[in-house]
Amino acid sequence: MEKKRQIALTAVNSRSSHTNLALYYIKRLLKYQEGTNTDLIELTINENWKQSLMKLTKQPYDYYLFSVYIWNSDFIEELVPLLKKICPHSKIILGGPEITYNLEKWKKTGTADVLIQGQGESFLPQIFSWKSPVFRSRNTPLNSVPFPYEPEDYANLKGRLVYYEASRGCLFNCSYCLSSCSDQKLEYRDPDTVKKELKVLISIEPKIVKMVDRTFNSRRDYAREIWQFLIDEKSPVPFHFELHPLFLEEEDFSLLETAPDDLFHFEVGIQSTDKSVLNAVDRPYNWPKEKENIQRLCSLKNIHTHLDQIAALPLDNKESAEESFNEILSLSPDEFQLGFLKILPGTTLAKKAETYGMVVKKSPPYEVVQTSTMSFTEIKKFYNVETDLGRFYNSHYFHHTIKYLLENSSSPWAFFTALMEFSPADKSVKRWAVLGECLLKYGEEQNSGDREYLMDLLRLDWCPFASGQNYPPFLKRNDGEATKVNRRAAYPFFSENIAGFTRRDYNRSILFVPTNERLIEELNSNAILFYRSDSIGKYKIDLKELSSPEENLRQAVQPIKEPDRIS
Ligand code: SF4
Repeated sequence: MEKKRQIALTAVNSRSSHTNLALYYIKRLLKYQEGTNTDLIELTINENWKQSLMKLTKQPYDYYLFSVYIWNSDFIEELVPLLKKICPHSKIILGGPEITYNLEKWKKTGTADVLIQGQGESFLPQIFSWKSPVFRSRNTPLNSVPFPYEPEDYANLKGRLVYYEASRGCLFNCSYCLSSCSDQKLEYRDPDTVKKELKVLISIEPKIVKMVDRTFNSRRDYAREIWQFLIDEKSPVPFHFELHPLFLEEEDFSLLETAPDDLFHFEVGIQSTDKSVLNAVDRPYNWPKEKENIQRLCSLKNIHTHLDQIAALPLDNKESAEESFNEILSLSPDEFQLGFLKILPGTTLAKKAETYGMVVKKSPPYEVVQTSTMSFTEIKKFYNVETDLGRFYNSHYFHHTIKYLLENSSSPWAFFTALMEFSPADKSVKRWAVLGECLLKYGEEQNSGDREYLMDLLRLDWCPFASGQNYPPFLKRNDGEATKVNRRAAYPFFSENIAGFTRRDYNRSILFVPTNERLIEELNSNAILFYRSDSIGKYKIDLKELSSPEENLRQAVQPIKEPDRIS
């Protein structure tokens, strides 16, 4: 009997919770190829290279397939020559966007036996007998690509970030984006097939399903049909979509309002709010309309919103980038990602980069460090703001405090640049207590507002992240005994009314008692108990009712439905 080909599909992910859609497709397709035996080997870019080599050589393989992107390109470039030396009889095959659009570089490295240019699905089974160094793959109609995941994969996907595509291609032609130089026309997978497959994904219980569609709502009726399906399914698994705000219509808002909390995570790439900057990268401009729609989206408290800016685009300067930053952050998204332009090989912009005086890192991530309209010194300021944006805003550590401080600053940019003076220079410092103290110092020096109010806001923000009953030293108060008495008094309500109540959970729970009148009024409560079990439940506690002789616990303790926002 002929020996089976042993194939290692090697996914090099950026985190262990991530997965690789392309290799799951190939795994699925290879399963039905006679005479092949396939293993999916998952590594991460942070992994020790020796460990990686050990995993890859646990058994002999005839073929190693890697999918190469900008985030794993350096790792693969270093690993593959070692692998080739250790296993000289194995064939190394590389594919993915880094190979497709940066072919000449990879040809020069000479480390692979075959480089695949184009999509991954159509090269089988020819690839195993392919003799030339480059294989040019054809596009496969999306409706004939199989569902990538099989029952044997489900256990491995549970609790992780799983990718899925309902469409390929993009309507737009932004000059910095690889989608604009692809010959992929916009096509959609049959919606009934999509619904069937999404149902399977929900049953696998991943942490989140990330739809890789470039602009999911570019066909409005299609997007609505899928959103309605997920709402009807009452999916406990959240779904992440990339949207264009200009395609949102009244009907979308009416539908989205009915979605359960946190089912939909929407990412909107705004990139810049400046007309000339967007024109320079061939991106449509209609900021007033986009702003209106994003404002409506962000005001839907059941949707998680993520907005993006790209700094240092062609013609972008200090003023336009700061203005974009202010405009975007003033929409109060749940997350705001400030990124920096990358000049990806193969894009239209790569051919024009010199025109804009762009100084670019020659290897991944191909980031711009200076342009003719933005000096490195100016860009450096954005690097620092980006770090603080991550640890103070996107971390959600200081939800109430940041909201208050932003409202009391002349602009979001002014706030973040002033905060730089107080935030730790070491960018790896992310501890709540260290950062919280920086905000207090900032508040004391920069903000003319109420110090006691600020201290209370910080205490309130600390409660969901607290590791014990005591506040960090800079927020310490002297009412420990009173808090203990009130906790004890509230205990019977929790032990009698909370399903799955345990004393251990109650002991880990924190009673927040504001001292500041303004906050008591805004919270409409004089105490909040953060009940810590698997997740955090919040309960308003009326201390007067709790201590009255004819105490009525059910009246004294009320669950908070929308815990994170002070109205
Ligand atoms: S940046 Fe987004 S909208 Fe523009 S071409 Fe790329 S995928 Fe399409």
